[in-house]
Amino acid sequence: MNWVDSIRSIKDRWASGKPRFRNGVSKIGASTIGNQYYCEQKVEMEYTAGKIETEKKTAGTALHSILLAMKKTTPDEVIKEIQTKDVYYASFPLLANFSELVLTGKPDVVIFVKGSPLFVVELKTTGTDISKLWPNQLVQARVYGLLLQEMGFDCSRLKLAVISHRRNGDISGEYRRKFLDSMVKLLVKEREDAAGNRGDFHVHLIDYAKEDAVANVKWAEDYWLSKRQPISARNVGKCRSCEYVDTCPASLVKPTESSPE
Ligand code: SF4
Repeated sequence: MNWVDSIRSIKDRWASGKPRFRNGVSKIGASTIGNQYYCEQKVEMEYTAGKIETEKKTAGTALHSILLAMKKTTPDEVIKEIQTKDVYYASFPLLANFSELVLTGKPDVVIFVKGSPLFVVELKTTGTDISKLWPNQLVQARVYGLLLQEMGFDCSRLKLAVISHRRNGDISGEYRRKFLDSMVKLLVKEREDAAGNRGDFHVHLIDYAKEDAVANVKWAEDYWLSKRQPISARNVGKCRSCEYVDTCPASLVKPTESSPE
C-alpha cells in the first residue's frame, strides 16, 4: 500500500481490529512496546490491575499539551500538505501490520521535507538527567519509524529525535508559543548539529535503521502472542518508584519495605 492510501484507510482499519492479542488487545502501540523494555510486567499490570494516574504522568501530559499545541486538521489535508509543502510537520495516527502484529502509534511530531519524513520527534519530560536516552524511549521512536516505513513512506533519510525536556523547565508564554516552530527549524536547518544540550532540553538524534526496529518488535511480539510470560524489572529502583509496587507479584520490594505496618 502507498502512504496516501495508508493514511486514508487508517480510520476504517483502526475500527475493524479484532482483539486477538494478549489481554484482548487488537493493536499494539509504539509506546507500549517501548514500555516493555522498561518493565514488561508493568505493561501486564496496566491490563490486569488497571492504569494508575501518577503526578509524573499528569505533569508530562500537561507539558505536552502546552508545548506541542497544534491546530486540528484532516487526513486529506495532511496528505495535501505533505505533497505540496517544502517543509511540513504534523502529528497523526500511524497504523500498519507487521509480522503477526498490528502496530499503531501517534508520534508527537513528524517533520516532512519535500514529501519524505526527515524526523520523528518524541518529547519526553523528566525530573532527572535530560542527557540520558532510555531504552524504552529509543524503542518507541524506532517503532514510529517502522510504522512510517510500513505505511509506504521513504524513510531512507529519517532520523529519530527524542527531546528530553526538564519537567520544571521554562514554560513561559513566549517560550511555549515558540517551542514547536523553533524545534522544527532547529532540526531541519541544523540536522546532526541539532543534537546535544539546549538548556531546558536535550536533543537525542539517532539514525533510523529498520533492522533495529524489527529486532525490538520481534522480541516484544512473543509477549503479545502469549509465547512467554511477562518479563519483570531486575532493578529494585524501578520497583521502588512503581505505582504497582504493593500489588505486583514480581515486585523486588518486600512488603515491609513499602508498607511499614
Ligand atoms: S513492581 Fe517492579 S516488577 Fe512489578 S511492575 Fe513495577 S517495576 Fe515491574
